[in-house]
Amino acid sequence: MKNVIIIGSGIGGLITGNLLAKKGHKVTIFEAHNMPGGYTAGFYRKGYYFESGTLSFEASASVFKAMKDIGVFDQIDFLRLRIRFVSEDFDGTPENYNDYKKMVYSGFPSEKEKLDTVFSELDKTIDLMGDADEPMPFLYSGLKMFESMLPYILSAPKQMQLSKQFGNMTSSEFAAKYFEKGSKLFELFSGFGYPDMPAMFVGTAISGVFTDYWTVKGGMQSWADILAENFRKLGGDLKLSSYVDKIITKNGAAVGVSCKNTVYNADYVISAGDYKKTFLKLLDDQSLIPQTLQDNLESAAVSEGFCTVYLGLNMSSQELGKYMKAPHVFTYDHKPGYNIYNSEDGEFFSKTSVSLYSPSMVNPKHAPTGKSSLMLQTIVPYHWMNNWGGGDKELYGQLKGKAMEAMIDSASRLIPGLKKNIEYKDAATPLTYERFTHNTDGASSAWSWNPKKKFYKNAMSVNIETPVKNLYIGSCWAMQFGGVPGALAAAYQCTKKIK
Ligand SMILES: Cc1cc2nc3c(=O)[nH]c(=O)nc-3n(C[C@H](O)[C@H](O)[C@H](O)COP(=O)(O)OP(=O)(O)OC[C@H]3O[C@@H](n4cnc5c(N)ncnc54)[C@H](O)[C@@H]3O)c2cc1C
Repeated sequence: MKNVIIIGSGIGGLITGNLLAKKGHKVTIFEAHNMPGGYTAGFYRKGYYFESGTLSFEASASVFKAMKDIGVFDQIDFLRLRIRFVSEDFDGTPENYNDYKKMVYSGFPSEKEKLDTVFSELDKTIDLMGDADEPMPFLYSGLKMFESMLPYILSAPKQMQLSKQFGNMTSSEFAAKYFEKGSKLFELFSGFGYPDMPAMFVGTAISGVFTDYWTVKGGMQSWADILAENFRKLGGDLKLSSYVDKIITKNGAAVGVSCKNTVYNADYVISAGDYKKTFLKLLDDQSLIPQTLQDNLESAAVSEGFCTVYLGLNMSSQELGKYMKAPHVFTYDHKPGYNIYNSEDGEFFSKTSVSLYSPSMVNPKHAPTGKSSLMLQTIVPYHWMNNWGGGDKELYGQLKGKAMEAMIDSASRLIPGLKKNIEYKDAATPLTYERFTHNTDGASSAWSWNPKKKFYKNAMSVNIETPVKNLYIGSCWAMQFGGVPGALAAAYQCTKKIK
């Protein structure tokens, strides 16, 4: 039995903790927040429930396998999410990818030829990458892992061919091959998912929302709570409100952590939170970090953060549903001048599109009787307006208020009477996300998705090893594109390491 300390109780830390405790190890999770979950969490305000991190996940085959391995699958009410897409040119809630294509064609009949080419390119990548209906190979060991890698090995020649074609191409570069920059179709194809994400992923990202896009009916917090409870039942110790301020090393190896002036010893330390801070802030001996890594770390680009507006509405979920038509709505109505890279544009929030999500349309218990809850979201430029006011609290409040009002204005176009029905409102900025999860700049999904700004050479590798012996990465930061799958892959790799 090994004594293992895990820093962080996001989905990565909770899965690692459960798997290791199940193997019979003595595991302690330290969580800075007073609730478990990290980005898979939620909160109540005045009886309204909101998701505080992600509201959805993909890669369900991997997620479900993990929950079955841990033994909690039956306790979690996973639910498929449907999305409505709205722009000036189309408005629909397609059942599947073909319907989505039809919807786009119907909005742009004069662009049929170009759309034919674009979709045939995207289809090639979808055929190759498949629907991910099998768990990731990292979730297996030995022969079973090899077996699950076989499809990837067999498709390697095709992969190589497509990589030659797409290489490090971004979604904007892909869209610009066919459509004028700034045009509606350019925005549509370059704007799906993260800005400038790999062109290789655009097709699977679009088709994936029809085949593999999920939420948890009880809310993400219920998922984290179930995992936390199971971890405790397995003998694990989950310490909430316990920020780890140092990772302690001896002779180049991690031997414990310090928290609230107390030292806790361990055979292994797993950092299941932010990668940059693990090394630049928590590690007690900076000389253990090779200079090249240190240089890379400081400048490495992280994924963009979100601004989210939380609204409690004096409007029933049924009435809200008449306008929303689906619990999740993507809008495509960037205004002229929209630029995700312009951090100095004070009017950014009046130009960006917002997505809408109603937790109470997914589960009526997420709002008081006769009322509804609504979240408005958009990705924001890094360090918008001198990082939201350069540390000036009053200015921060003003900027946050301005962003919130602009996003509410935007959503009002879809929901008449929205403003007069608001009973509760607040917003989270990337600074809020960072404050509650310690993710650098409120990075929402680990490192940058831009293939030209990679931190890891191989974007699909799982990198739990660190230059410090017995210190592993158990969070989404172990993979370039992070997300729930990144956290899961890291959790399994860490578990395999500790015999
Ligand atoms: C708005 C939004 C939308 C998203 N959409 C998707 C999506 O559709 N699909 C998808 O797969 N992913 C999505 N993601 C990303 C996904 O939610 C995260 O990548 C994933 O949940 C991260 O899990 P994690 O366990 O690696 O880390 P986190 O959830 O970040 O958890 C880290 C935990 O560690 C704790 N911690 C950090 N430092 C310390 C310390 N020193 N001491 C103690 N505790 C510490 C933090 O408090 C936190 O609880 C989204 C994220 C956001 C914000």
